[in-house]
Amino acid sequence: MDIVSTINNSISIVSRLRDISKNLSEAEFKNLLADLSTELADAKLQIADLKIQLAIQTDELRALKSANPEAKQKPTIKWGCYKFDGEEGLYCSACYDSKGQKSLTNRLNSNRRSCPVCKAVIGS
Ligand SMILES: [Zn+2]
Repeated sequence: MDIVSTINNSISIVSRLRDISKNLSEAEFKNLLADLSTELADAKLQIADLKIQLAIQTDELRALKSANPEAKQKPTIKWGCYKFDGEEGLYCSACYDSKGQKSLTNRLNSNRRSCPVCKAVIGS
């Protein structure tokens, strides 16, 4: 099953319905509507499958990353935040240490920054 071709089929059925709606027999109309329902039901199933696959792959990726600590970048500390080589911006150390998540901090004023994710205020 291919979600893109299913959706393409649905779109072409809709445009056929639109093109010929003026002189369409009731039987043709019902057939096309039935086709459209089938295509949309297929698309719904395929999307559900894709969501499951994506969840599995996300889990696998997370497991791979935690099994391979070298893949984790080693940050340096600047103004109480983490700074990564080759990247602009300062990241929340709490988010990175606890979840491995890189949360870009916002500047509040000249010596304070805040994390939009965990709401930590960094600095004095
Ligand atoms: Zn944070």
